[in-house]
Amino acid sequence: MENREFWFVVGSQFLYGPEVLEIVDKRAAEMTEALNASGNLPYKLVYKVTAKTNQEIADVVKEANYNDNCCGIITWCHTFSPSKMWINGFVNLQKPYCHLATQYNLEIPNEEIDMDFMNLNQAAHGDREHGFIAARLRMPRKVIAGYWKDESVQKRLGAWMRTAVGVAVSRKLKVMRFGDNMREVAVTEGDKVEVQAKLGWQVNTWAVGDLVKVMNAVTEEEIDALVAEYKANYDIATDNMEAIRYQAKEEIAMKKMMDAEGCKAFANTFQDLYGMEQLPGLASQHLMAQGYGYGGEGDWKVSAMTAIMKAMGENGNGASGFMEDYTYHLVPGQQYSLGAHMLEVCPSLAGNKPRIETHFLGIGMNEKDPARLVFEGKEGDAIVVSLIDMGGRLRLICQDIHCVKPIMPMPNLPVARVMWQAMPNLTTGVECWITAGGAHHTVLSYDVTAEQMKDWANIMGIEYVHIGKDTTVEGLEQQLFLNDLAWKLQ
Ligand code: MN
Repeated sequence: MENREFWFVVGSQFLYGPEVLEIVDKRAAEMTEALNASGNLPYKLVYKVTAKTNQEIADVVKEANYNDNCCGIITWCHTFSPSKMWINGFVNLQKPYCHLATQYNLEIPNEEIDMDFMNLNQAAHGDREHGFIAARLRMPRKVIAGYWKDESVQKRLGAWMRTAVGVAVSRKLKVMRFGDNMREVAVTEGDKVEVQAKLGWQVNTWAVGDLVKVMNAVTEEEIDALVAEYKANYDIATDNMEAIRYQAKEEIAMKKMMDAEGCKAFANTFQDLYGMEQLPGLASQHLMAQGYGYGGEGDWKVSAMTAIMKAMGENGNGASGFMEDYTYHLVPGQQYSLGAHMLEVCPSLAGNKPRIETHFLGIGMNEKDPARLVFEGKEGDAIVVSLIDMGGRLRLICQDIHCVKPIMPMPNLPVARVMWQAMPNLTTGVECWITAGGAHHTVLSYDVTAEQMKDWANIMGIEYVHIGKDTTVEGLEQQLFLNDLAWKLQ
């Protein structure tokens, strides 16, 4: 993993004299050290400067913009920092920005409080002056308020860091397309130029024939090594080792091509398997397990979002994967969605050890039965996310869900499956999702939150729609109507 870090920039001014500035500097360093030691920040915090002048702020912003390791800045005003000093820096800031509105002391010290204490500990009004200028400049930002030693504050800061890493990953993301989108499908289309300008994605195509050439050059030794890895991670529930070896060959070839181009996401389609015997199933699943994004039917948008949301998760490769809404259980009192795909569900979603199985697949030109991982999704709160192109703008839709252990075994279903309760409930949730135009393909994530996706969308400058426990169809329709007007003015 790259050396990702975040910069702590503290605001002050010369008004208080050198002794106060020395204390501020010492405390900022102490806070940075304690935050790093807390275990609640997933990335390193680096204390850069207590800034007193316009020039110091402009300089640290310029450095942050050009430093590839720096994924964002976190600011705080221990004392009062007149915010006109921040304008020249802030108008040029290209990295994610979080304002931590905190203070060094937990309590107001009853006996000790005097004007010296007040001059040194002014965050309550210093942070307001600081907040005004970001509001005035219409900057995308995260505001986190609370005591810096408080675990919940530290965890929120940690979650924001992961969001900012999602921004860094997005801005450098390359997507490899094998073949075009599935014929006639609308929602998987999109403006690649707009997406590159807004989100940074480089989305390009490679011929399936080129992939087949790379597959044909894969050696038996390479396949042996990957099959050994499959055996170490999954139960083999088929005698068809030939199919497993074929998937290994596909995986090795796709990985070689992606790594040679620096791609972290890919899409393919069952309609274009020219020269391949099987649709990659196990191959795509095991690539997702390693952090690569994937989208079926040529869906490069969901593939890119999968890669980004994986990078936002635990250890930079979290429990997020490509998902598709398949069918509903509409029995009153037990209403569930069943999600799956024809093969490609990421094992990071698994609640049990995945089994490798081979089955006939009627969709697409599969000459042979493809091997795939079969498992049940784990229980827990999660989200499903869909990025759609509205024509002129991108809309990110995020719905809260609660995944359950599937309520029936479904022994004849030959693919991995996840079952969930949608918020606010199944039917209202479906009405909201369809009203917003959400796709049948999503990224399902257990460790990225709706708040993180909102922050990510804000930083990227795209529309965000959230469907949660309090959402109503009427309220959502009103929001979408107003969003439409607002986005036309942009
Ligand atoms: Mn699909």
